[in-house]
Amino acid sequence: MKLKTGLLTFGFVAMLSSCAAVNYSYEGKAFKSAFSSIKSEDLKKNLYVIAADNMEGRDTGSPGQKRAADYIINYYKNLNIGHPTEMTSYLQTVPADYMNKKSRGETFNDSANILAFIKGSEKPEEIIVVSAHYDHVGTKNGVVYNGADDDGSGTVGVMEIAEAFNKAAKEGHGPKRSVLFLHVTGEEHGLFGSAYYSDNPIFPLANTVADLNIDMIGRDDAENRGQDYVYVIGSEMLSKELKTINETANAQTNQLKLNYKYDDPKDPQRLYYRSDHYNFAKKGIPVAFFFDGIHEDYHKPTDDPEKINYVLLAKRAQLVFATAWELANRKERIVVDKK
Ligand SMILES: [Zn+2]
Repeated sequence: MKLKTGLLTFGFVAMLSSCAAVNYSYEGKAFKSAFSSIKSEDLKKNLYVIAADNMEGRDTGSPGQKRAADYIINYYKNLNIGHPTEMTSYLQTVPADYMNKKSRGETFNDSANILAFIKGSEKPEEIIVVSAHYDHVGTKNGVVYNGADDDGSGTVGVMEIAEAFNKAAKEGHGPKRSVLFLHVTGEEHGLFGSAYYSDNPIFPLANTVADLNIDMIGRDDAENRGQDYVYVIGSEMLSKELKTINETANAQTNQLKLNYKYDDPKDPQRLYYRSDHYNFAKKGIPVAFFFDGIHEDYHKPTDDPEKINYVLLAKRAQLVFATAWELANRKERIVVDKK
């Protein structure tokens, strides 16, 4: 009798834990429902606002950039996604002084990073960062540089990924680790916002598991024209596991062609050093940088929302979501295995 009860209990526990595992797997309902909530129409709607002329190219510290910040913050408020409770608002001020000291002769007004946060259910102290810069280069000689791809695409991608995590949370499958949605400022002038965050982190960097950074995911370059691809940069630089996790996430979902051409710190384009993830990598945090390449409208006033491939933008945002999902929900946090 006793043995039988024991076996029954064991069986029941095993069944429960395998259900839990299924719920968080890529085959599970929770993942699929959140994943498919990332839609090209939603990305398009938000990007037409973020990259509109009245945002004046979102130069760091400008009124246009503040309007973009208001739009992003209202989006989170409407979804009931809060800011870290360690802060009094979504804004982390990046002081003018901090940027002025780092710049080569330029002077700035105060600006701010935007932080939205979903607390983990099991390991809330461990943080996955999903980042993108929301500043761009502003208006020159009366011409607005809309920065739809750079980095309006990453901005709306992060917003949509947050919505997907939030949807899963509302359906009872919130992330086990916490996820920080970090919209940084001052990227175009020298990665200032991410530098400021990594110098003044809201959560200890020792507990920051990884940064998935998105900077330009809505277009294609001449080399990959018409293909479903994305450049992934830096994903095995500090942790082999991160590259494997991203590849598995991709294989189990949209099966984009992962292009590692720039995944070499010696590449002449030096892309590993050129966006916000680098400020995390510098401090020993594993990163993956998602990027579409240097195309003909890069840093031109013609980087407009009507030129974005919204279907591809959605597929790439879904890949970042799927990778973040595994990082947040897997049993063991990924380990740093390289210096
Ligand atoms: Zn950029």
